[in-house]
Parts: sequence; structure tokens; C-alpha cells
Amino acid sequence: MRILLQFPEGLKQNALSEAEKLEKEGHEVFLSASSCYGACDLALDEAKAIGAQKLIHYGHSRFIRAKLPIKVEYREFHVRIDPSVLKSALPFLKGKKKIALVTTVQHIPQLNEMKSFLEKNGKEVLIGKGKFAEYAGQVLGCDPGAATDLPGRASAILYVGDGKFHPTGIYAEVPILALNPYNGECRQLNDEIEKIKKRRKGMLLKALECKTFGILLSTKPGQFAIEAARTAKEEFIRRGLRAEILLSNELNPVSIGNFLHFECYVNTACPRIQEDREIFELPILNYADLKEFFPLFDELRKIRGKK
Ligand code: SF4
Repeated sequence: MRILLQFPEGLKQNALSEAEKLEKEGHEVFLSASSCYGACDLALDEAKAIGAQKLIHYGHSRFIRAKLPIKVEYREFHVRIDPSVLKSALPFLKGKKKIALVTTVQHIPQLNEMKSFLEKNGKEVLIGKGKFAEYAGQVLGCDPGAATDLPGRASAILYVGDGKFHPTGIYAEVPILALNPYNGECRQLNDEIEKIKKRRKGMLLKALECKTFGILLSTKPGQFAIEAARTAKEEFIRRGLRAEILLSNELNPVSIGNFLHFECYVNTACPRIQEDREIFELPILNYADLKEFFPLFDELRKIRGKK
């Protein structure tokens, strides 16, 4: 069988040994050398170009449930941790009874062990389920639902995993804690999340003064939100603003910057792109921000029109 293997950046170092195993089984193997950001980012075009019968996507859990043109196998990557590392979170959880526990796919097989640890320490553990994530208790940067869509009311949220992208996407009134299971460091992130919210608000206010909008649309299979991009464009045009849809697999700030005319971008792709606002050198609204933007814009226009 002809197979294309696709690895996220951190796992590309495993590619040769995986290829060797499959080649020994008699398969013809190609390695995708493109960047890979997440489970949404399947190298379907490359697979099609080589006539692959199968794409093996490593490191992430299933994300796209729609029928795909070729067979896709997700091979998850799990990292074992010592569940007793959760003891670092206990001082932060003092006086908090119901804890929403979330993690990334790397540690999902140990979710029950983590839950038991917390229960032995007198906590009631709530496990939620997101919209796109494959497993209960699993959060993605674009799907924090497991932390907020819960079978009860949590008094704190505990994220176990490294990095800040996943937990800073969670919005909740209760303490949001991030525990790095590799070094045992536990931090409360609410202040940081509040800063992110303020930055977003700032970009929204700047966007209200803009007249020309570039709507970012990625062709990555799990990010391709063409209807959202079209709706956004229509809404801008309806208000007498200028908007165009900018289509690319990889949304490169330098190439996009060369259009020169845009004053603000609207991102319909991965929410992580909004974090690159400094590289894009312009305000970036996520598609979800438009729910707030358009009513504010209409209100402002009314007020200005009255003067
Ligand atoms: S859209 Fe972004 S956050 Fe969501 S799976 Fe893809 S890379 Fe991850």
C-alpha cells in the first residue's frame, strides 16, 4: 500500500523509525515535510498528489468526522506521567470541592488515575466533553468545552499538561489552574486570561475604526470555514465596508502583509493565529468576535449619525 505519514513538529524525529517499520511490512512510504499544527491539519492534498491509499496522522486524536477522500488513521501519542504530581495543585484547590479536570490527548489514558488521585484527596471530579475533541476530559486550543460543559458546577478547573495555549482558551469565573506534569509547576491563570481578554477588546475597538478587512480562510481540512468567511464578507459589505477573503493553506503574515490595503484581519481558521497579531502587524479578530463587533459597529454608527 502507498502510505503518507504526517507528524506534528515535535514528533518528526520519530518519522524514520515509523517509516522503516512500514517499509519492512512491504508498504511504499512518503513523509509529509509540511508543517503540521494539529489534528485539523491533515495532509490530504499531498496524499492525493502521490495517489496514497492511506494517510497516517501521528500525535493527535480524531478531529474530522466527515467522510474524507482517502482513509485516514490517527495514531495518538501518549506520555505517561506520575499522577501523584497532582499534589502540587492541592494547595491551590484548598476549600474547593468540585474540580473540573481536563488534559490533552497525550495524557488522556491516565485521566482516571488523575481523577482517583483527586478523589482520594477529598475532591469531587467533574469530567466534561467538548464539541470537537474526541474524548471526555480532552481540551483543544479551539475547543475548551471539556472544561466548561460539565455535569455539574465546578469550583475550580484543573488543566494537566504543558504549554499555555490550551488552558488560556478557557473562560470561566472560577480559578483556572494549569499543572505542568513534567516539572510539577502549578499556576493560576485567571490574570493572564483576563489580559488576553483585554487585548482582544483592544483589537475590537481598533477594528471599529477600520474600513478594509481581510478575511483569513485556511484550506486545512479541519479549518476550512468557507461559509463563515462568506458570511463575514457579506456582513462587512452590507455595512458599506470593504472586505475580501484571503485563501491559503498556510496563512503567512509576510505574504498576506504584501496586499498592503487591509487594516484589520478576521480569522476563520485556528484561533492560535490571533496570538500572532504582532507578526501580522494589524488587529486580528477571531470569527467569534464578530458577534460582538457588528452590534457595536451598528450602535456606533447610529450614535455618530445622530451628531
Ligand atoms: S484548529 Fe488549531 S487548536 Fe484546533 S485542532 Fe487545529 S491546530 Fe489545534
